[in-house]
Amino acid sequence: MTLASPLTPSTPDLSNRTVAYFSMEIALSPALPTYSGGLGMLAGDTLRSAADTAAPMVAISLVHRRGYFRQKLSDVGQQTESDVPWSPETTLPSANQIIALTMQGRQVLVRAWRFDVTGITGHIIPVFLLDTDVEGNDPWDRRLTDHLYGGDTYYRLCQETVLGLGGVALLDALECKPEVYHMNEGHAALLAIGLLEDRLAGRPLRDATEADIEAVRQLCVFTTHTPVPAGHDQFGIDQMYQVLGHDRAAALDQFGCLHNGLMNMTYLALRFSRFVNGVAMQHGKVSQQMFPGYKVYSITNGVHAATWLSPQFQDLLDGEIPNWRTDNQYLRSVYGIDPARITAAHNKGKLRLFATIAKRTGHHFNPNVLTLGFARRVATYKRASLLLHDPERLVAIAQKIGGLQILYAGKAHPADNAGKGLIRDVYSAAAKLNSSALKIHYIENYDWELGALLTQGVDVWVNTPRRPYEASGTSGMKAALNGVPSLSILDGWWIEGCAENTTGWAIEDGENEAAEAASLYDKLEHSIAPMYAKPDAWSRMQQHCIAINGTFFNTHRMLAQYFENSYFPHTQVGETPGSPLERRRSSDVLVPEPALV
Ligand SMILES: *Cc1c(COP(=O)(O)O)cnc(C)c1O
Repeated sequence: MTLASPLTPSTPDLSNRTVAYFSMEIALSPALPTYSGGLGMLAGDTLRSAADTAAPMVAISLVHRRGYFRQKLSDVGQQTESDVPWSPETTLPSANQIIALTMQGRQVLVRAWRFDVTGITGHIIPVFLLDTDVEGNDPWDRRLTDHLYGGDTYYRLCQETVLGLGGVALLDALECKPEVYHMNEGHAALLAIGLLEDRLAGRPLRDATEADIEAVRQLCVFTTHTPVPAGHDQFGIDQMYQVLGHDRAAALDQFGCLHNGLMNMTYLALRFSRFVNGVAMQHGKVSQQMFPGYKVYSITNGVHAATWLSPQFQDLLDGEIPNWRTDNQYLRSVYGIDPARITAAHNKGKLRLFATIAKRTGHHFNPNVLTLGFARRVATYKRASLLLHDPERLVAIAQKIGGLQILYAGKAHPADNAGKGLIRDVYSAAAKLNSSALKIHYIENYDWELGALLTQGVDVWVNTPRRPYEASGTSGMKAALNGVPSLSILDGWWIEGCAENTTGWAIEDGENEAAEAASLYDKLEHSIAPMYAKPDAWSRMQQHCIAINGTFFNTHRMLAQYFENSYFPHTQVGETPGSPLERRRSSDVLVPEPALV
């Protein structure tokens, strides 16, 4: 059923949008709580690059009327959460479409709000945010698009049903006929069932042939985002039948989409996609090992340069490197800029960060002191406390090098009590260690704005994941663009981005945490602090970060790779999609040797 009415005149023509991008979360604006972390940021940055480069894309997500959550931290670091309610009615134009889904044995009406991502030349990527808060729906169903990653597995499966099936139905209703459906993570995998239903035009799914499935596969591509098992949604068979109904549930079973007796969104996506990729070269390999029955390629993540560069750097680049906004490859010309000007731009970002912290917390940081930043989702594998592993050594280094400041931020998922404990651990360590030489502070409510301030303002970005669980990571890319080197475990993007003593430092692989912490302290004491004490050398390093890593780890480059390798692969008839990629990147260049000089 489609209750069609004309779109507002400003709606871009959707008939020529060949790529539909589906994501559970998309960071669209600092003012909208429609994201939780890295996945949503990547989705937003992808669409911002699509807008800048006039890509023929359209996107689908959920409205998340109550957001993810706002984080409050008590004096001892105990996290509490509150909703972030917003009103799409007063913020965004309506898509003027209502579609009806059958799920949970009843009808659910779904409408959509349109957010236009506008590029530098005015090209628009329309993003449709699906909303079940529609009069006539069951009161429980009206709350289905309220909480990003909230509720239980039943709620989550309902959300993923709205995203996948609702998204396909909405695009149908808008007369948008994409040639490629990109599942950004498995959450959106039910879109394949929507496409199969379209194809069968009313016939039951059990009638679908291998040829029907192959036709849907030719439309779908899939990006997997984490090797952490909890990141791959699974649902019980009972829930699958309850939410999807008998025809769809039985078909998923019949088509071999279950895994270990569960409905598994990753396997559903794998089964129905002609191209699958991980988000850094190594992550593609790790994913290949996880899913040996499928070919998994790699396209390394990036960030949207103009979103993450500080205002000072944007001014500097606008003056010196025309066209960097349309084509980030020109950032390489940063080698033509006096390194001292790069340092001056960075120092402004540092002052701005410290001014914001002083205003928010009353804590004063010294702009002349080496400052480390560590901000990310709090999960055990990210090991926030590796930096604090040997407090005595850390204090000794801080005293020896003339002071050290460490800024932390990050949210734990509301249901993750272990994660919340890690925040308290950092608080209690900070309380013990804070002194005139060492200052540690945890800033509450890590979000887009704080993420920007931190990556633009600290001197060194620290990342200490347990290998190989960091699929990519993107915050270090934001830092690099702003002339901030990383000190990181060689995992995720850093395997590709680390040139030792040039773009940052590798924490060397160790047998255990103590060994890796020791390497971290060694680098801090013997490599980082001595270079920080030599302003000319430090300036050149900042320049290398932008020239080498900023030029590559951006979403302009990443999206071009998606178009070339995933969306519209340059293949000859009869050739396996993606095989040119294999030829171009033999396995020995797949994971470059870490640059340890
Ligand atoms: C960039 C960003 C992330 C992702 O960064 P990681 O390096 O993957 O941790 C998460 N949250 C916010 C607010 C960000 O800006």
